[in-house]
Amino acid sequence: MERLKELDHIGIAVDDLDEAKKLYCDILGFELTDERELPEKGLKIAFLSTGNTKIELLEGTSEESAITKFVAKKGAGIHHLCFEVDDITRTLEELSSEGIGLIDRVPRIGAEGHPIAFLHPGSTKKVLIELEEK
Ligand code: ZN
Repeated sequence: MERLKELDHIGIAVDDLDEAKKLYCDILGFELTDERELPEKGLKIAFLSTGNTKIELLEGTSEESAITKFVAKKGAGIHHLCFEVDDITRTLEELSSEGIGLIDRVPRIGAEGHPIAFLHPGSTKKVLIELEEK
């Protein structure tokens, strides 16, 4: 049974996207592959990669943004792990029937244009897990 496939990216919440990009690109050697602002979600996002590993840097741009709240409460740091799935709707149904809490009961379209959904960290040892259908 392979419900969750490979790790797609690691989401990292930051308080200053430009500063974080300098750290990851100029010092740690990641390549900036995409960057966008999502004002409706109160977010600025940058995707970086090195080898087969991708990270998503997220900065909250409004008080209501989940990332702004996360950083205010816990400081910058790892926010979520995103795994690929084949069929997100079926996976959510199966996980729900196994008793896993879902933040998104119905998939929505994520920053990269694919269907995504988050599992409730209370069900996954405090790790916020994002699923992405690819
Ligand atoms: Zn993500």
